[in-house]
Amino acid sequence: MPREPKPSWLRILCPPGNLAKLEAQRCEGCSRWVVSCRQGVWESWDPGIITGQNLTIAIILQRPLTRIQWIPGLRQAQLEDVSGRYGITPDGQYLSLHDCQLAPISHTPYKPLRQQRKPGKPFPTNIKLTKQEIKTFERIWNTPTSELKQAIKQ
Ligand SMILES: [Zn+2]
Repeated sequence: MPREPKPSWLRILCPPGNLAKLEAQRCEGCSRWVVSCRQGVWESWDPGIITGQNLTIAIILQRPLTRIQWIPGLRQAQLEDVSGRYGITPDGQYLSLHDCQLAPISHTPYKPLRQQRKPGKPFPTNIKLTKQEIKTFERIWNTPTSELKQAIKQ
């Protein structure tokens, strides 16, 4: 498997000596790039930024999220816990917890928001899907694109 290059925005998210103790590293399990948070319990996050539509996908797939908070004074980012769906707002920027078995939800580069907007309206949590719909969605989501193309051709 070709090794993916280091996502360029990890330099912004994980500058040397940052106070949030964020480190860019390759996952020992799957060798993909992750953002490793070395505070308290070490956690690894997929580096793709989750906003908007991807946020809906992450919620449907029940992937744990953390909110990226940019501290303009320090020009550094820190990660904030979101407990369940609370603390999730449509205009926020998030990372999803890395799982070696699952495809990353997003490959969007990180750009600090110009202005931290005031907390927006809570994210609509009234997405109603049946168990079957979620299963189908998860299956398609976790199928590599090449296999999906095959399936469509058949
Ligand atoms: Zn991994």
